[in-house]
Amino acid sequence: MRFSAIVLLAVLLVLGCKNAARAGDGEIFSVAVGDFKISMLSEAQRESGLDILIGASPEDIAKFIPSGQYPLAVAAYLVQSPDGAMLVDTGFGREIGRHLKSLGAADDDIKTVLVTHAHGDHISGLTKDGAAVYKNAKVIVAKREYSWSADLRKHLASYKDSHETITPGALEAGGTEILPGVYAIEAYGHTPGHTMFLFESRGEKLLIWGDLTHAMAIQMPRPGVSVTYDSDPAAAAKVRQAVLKYAAENKIPIAGMHVAYPGIGDISIDPENPGGYIFAGKAK
Ligand SMILES: [Zn+2]
Repeated sequence: MRFSAIVLLAVLLVLGCKNAARAGDGEIFSVAVGDFKISMLSEAQRESGLDILIGASPEDIAKFIPSGQYPLAVAAYLVQSPDGAMLVDTGFGREIGRHLKSLGAADDDIKTVLVTHAHGDHISGLTKDGAAVYKNAKVIVAKREYSWSADLRKHLASYKDSHETITPGALEAGGTEILPGVYAIEAYGHTPGHTMFLFESRGEKLLIWGDLTHAMAIQMPRPGVSVTYDSDPAAAAKVRQAVLKYAAENKIPIAGMHVAYPGIGDISIDPENPGGYIFAGKAK
């Protein structure tokens, strides 16, 4: 009797732990970067297919995506710092508000929204029914992207004067500092003004690379593979190769809007695959 009670208790504990892990798993993942707390806020974790790939050989597909499906996320990032809260992109705006609440931040606490580029899965959350969602925020976006995207200009009209266009710096120069510890780096190709944001605090760094990749399963071993979402697939491939080399050589952790949970991890050169890289997600 006593033994079965212990077994029952053990089973309940295991089930309880499993449920506890499942509740938030795949939705939010946070790391500390010096004084910044940076969190991946997931809107979707799903599988995507081969139809969006450009330049993947049948041999590479057989080797790296044998099932024909690979993981793809839709996410935005929250950066909490002593100076206030920033969002990097807004996702579709379906889940971000709920995630902010669970991290102790309200929409009105967001002081800055940094925009990587103007696709709908990154900027739709800027407005709801034509009104600004982040009423106290200034939106910062590359001048080139602002000029290119009518959709972005429409969203920003709701922010009246509370937006600013910037010129990101070159990767080799480490970008341009736009706020204390926040550097904008050009990564044109996915869109004409696609911009990455590097966060640096107390010697620690994290590069949020926007849509540098969509299919990590094949774009890590074969960075030359682009996707149909890239407005200039050749330029996107070139910048992807340069950024991967930069992140690996300088040991800078990365985060991406379409990198599957946890969305944040480390890049290293694959010694057995010339020109290829390995991504290791941070421990969950
Ligand atoms: Zn995207």
